[in-house]
Amino acid sequence: MKRRTKIVCTLGPAVDSRAKIKQLIAAGMNVARLNCSHGDWETRRRWIKWVRDLSPEIAPIAILADLQGPKFRIGILPEDGLHLTMGQSISVGPGPGATMPVNQPEIFKAFANGCRVLLGDGNVELKLGDKEGENFVAKVVSDGLVKSRQGITLVNRIFDVPPMTDKDREDIGHACAAGVDYIALSYVKEADDIVLLRHEVNKLDPSIGLCAKIETREAIQDLHNILKVVDLVMVARGDLGLQMDIEDVPIMQKKIIDMCTWAGKPVITATQMLESMIENPRPTRAEATDVANAVLDGTDAIMLSGETASGEYPIECVKTMVRIAEKAEPLFVRSRIEKHFQENAHNHIGHQEAIAHSVADLASLLKPAAVISTTVSGNTARLVSKYRPKAPLLCATYDERTQARLGVCWGVEAIRLPTPRATEEGVRNAVGAFVKHKRLKKGSLVLITAGVPFGEGNTNLILTQVVE
Ligand code: PGA
Ligand code: MN
Repeated sequence: MKRRTKIVCTLGPAVDSRAKIKQLIAAGMNVARLNCSHGDWETRRRWIKWVRDLSPEIAPIAILADLQGPKFRIGILPEDGLHLTMGQSISVGPGPGATMPVNQPEIFKAFANGCRVLLGDGNVELKLGDKEGENFVAKVVSDGLVKSRQGITLVNRIFDVPPMTDKDREDIGHACAAGVDYIALSYVKEADDIVLLRHEVNKLDPSIGLCAKIETREAIQDLHNILKVVDLVMVARGDLGLQMDIEDVPIMQKKIIDMCTWAGKPVITATQMLESMIENPRPTRAEATDVANAVLDGTDAIMLSGETASGEYPIECVKTMVRIAEKAEPLFVRSRIEKHFQENAHNHIGHQEAIAHSVADLASLLKPAAVISTTVSGNTARLVSKYRPKAPLLCATYDERTQARLGVCWGVEAIRLPTPRATEEGVRNAVGAFVKHKRLKKGSLVLITAGVPFGEGNTNLILTQVVE
């Protein structure tokens, strides 16, 4: 695999066949995202089976179940939706006769005169006036079509909601039973939300990784702590764009990616990356540039949402992302991670961190055919990936879940092998397996990083070796 940036595809009706899933994988999908906001588990289980059946032996597809979280929606509108025009006065609330029914008390409690309300993707904006009876009077500030059950949110207002809904808990049960590799929580506010999710998931399957979707201001404030308890992060630009001024979104993207990389946690950049390709076979110049810029920001993965779930050109979208990412990757400079490393060099750099950093340095110097790591938990592979070495990252692991979870990490191609008795045997098996799979040639130089004694999760050795 030439490309290092991983690609996340949201599955949906547009790719609902074994043949389409096969095409997605051939085009370059690395992670399949199941969006729990739409559809049912019967369908999702079918997709999971296809993805597992068709996954390659090296670098199999990771499966991410994305929980809806406490998302607020308006009630039922006339069948064709509601056309709102600027300046129009409407009523919003739970009371009888409201033009725009809002029945969830959590959000309605936060309503106040002067509040800005965004509907759908944020295209339609209302400004709240006085409360009259049970409803608020509101003026339409920007117009458009609103449909039943679309999302509703308030700009710059914090409201008190539990981190998980009953539906989320039900989806966690299904996701664990179906054997997904990651579960993502929407609208995370603080590290404790992830701790709570961990507690829920651990009752069913502790090997599943957790993903924090960063889409609220509170989450950005607490990101430092969230990173201590989470396995994966998503820059959820869709809702971030509703929660903050749009000019802050690109800045936050860079900040979040930078913090995740330094913390050694993989990060996905999500939403509207190739939005116009939902209807067109080619992206806009701005979208192509956005994908390239996310790569240059240092993201591990880039995501497609509606583009692959319900668009007209799902396979073309993946191919387009691949081409843009491959073109941009050689221009990536690891100066930011280097800066963090140097700033911390005096105090808290442990030996594992130092080894991973050295592997990247050695890769630039020796230009090996590959960096090979052996890992039980995935830690060594993630640590090596963190410093973005300029060589293919081949990884041998012994656990199916670890292998799949590495699917989202920058550059990592993991193979699964039988558990060795000792480190030496593990290294020998890994080199042999990659030769067999034609990922390495005899006579090539490889850099190997592993731990002795085997299986203690301690990365403490670097080896240079010519493949025999
Ligand atoms: P969603 O999350 O698509 O589930 O809303 C992603 C985002 O908000 O960007
Ligand atoms: Mn979202």
